[in-house]
Amino acid sequence: MANHVVLNTGAKMPIIGLGTWKSTSIGLKDAVKAAIDIGYRLIDTAYLYKTEIDIGEAIAEKIKEGVVKREDLFIVSKLWSTFHEKSAVKKACMLTLTDLKLDYLDLYLIHWPMGFKTNDLDDSGFFVPDDTNFLETWEGMEELVDAGLVKAIGVSNFNHKQLDLMLNKPDLKYKPAVNQVECHPYLTQEKLIKYCHSNGIAVTAYSPLGSPGRLWATPEDPSLLEDPRIKAIAEKYHKTSAQVLIHFHIQRNIIAIPKSENPSRIAENFKVFDFELSKEEMDTIMNFNRNWRYCPLQWSLKHKDYPFNEEY
Ligand code: NDP
Repeated sequence: MANHVVLNTGAKMPIIGLGTWKSTSIGLKDAVKAAIDIGYRLIDTAYLYKTEIDIGEAIAEKIKEGVVKREDLFIVSKLWSTFHEKSAVKKACMLTLTDLKLDYLDLYLIHWPMGFKTNDLDDSGFFVPDDTNFLETWEGMEELVDAGLVKAIGVSNFNHKQLDLMLNKPDLKYKPAVNQVECHPYLTQEKLIKYCHSNGIAVTAYSPLGSPGRLWATPEDPSLLEDPRIKAIAEKYHKTSAQVLIHFHIQRNIIAIPKSENPSRIAENFKVFDFELSKEEMDTIMNFNRNWRYCPLQWSLKHKDYPFNEEY
């Protein structure tokens, strides 16, 4: 079972990584250090998460201890939506690199396709759109590759029409290496993943456990970790529901980035390479799809580039 996905740059991206959204400075540094000790080499962060300083300290300590070298790690961050002007992209990347105490990123993603004027919401609770177009933002991203600041560039939360626009851009220099999207048994993303894979774009699944820590959760929302059908499959393999939910992506050649700040759950989430689901079980889980989004990016519903009004 492959422990990595080969990107269109030729780089090998680990298939399991540590997510860090909502991690707090109380547990994050120890979580990242524990993850590296356990064997994680992919860490997913973003300017928006305000986690980069702690992650940078943890990485520096592990490199100093000789546990890993920089080149063993695969560090992913994301350009936030208030930096979508082409001229702002490098500044944003430099802020991230400084906080992470790194001189390059392995992968830098446009976090959302929508550009915003500020981080403040308007009176109706929406981000205020700016005048940028993500195709121009992409040109700023391409410049980062040429400057040696990032090894690969990609996108997140892009639908296939937005990717099509990018792939058909007449002066496109670098294709996106990755599209990071929400993906799990309630949102299997079959069409989008087929589109990405057939165009040489790798896919990363975010919120693979159903993002139980999200602030806008309601008691009526479906829970992946509590789903008795997932539990039954997990019991058969003496695994936990989380392990089945994470493993599900490996068999689809999709990178998964479960978030945890708890060292024992971080270890649990990495023990996912020692069992295999049958084709019937994979098909069964695929049929749990209900096009349910835990992260509908509701603060930007009215934006011209809001991605989730398309079927895929
Ligand atoms: P996940 O689906 O990874 O769920 C994380 C939650 O599950 C946390 O509350 C965690 O708690 C808990 N958890 C972790 N492991 C287990 C386990 N084994 N058993 C039970 N509970 C567990 O949610 P996220 O939304 O955080 O997604 C993962 C990552 O994807 C993010 O952290 C971020 O890096 C990325 N992401 C990207 C987005 C984008 O727009 N590009 C959007 C959303 C996420 P605890 O920490 O206490 O263990």
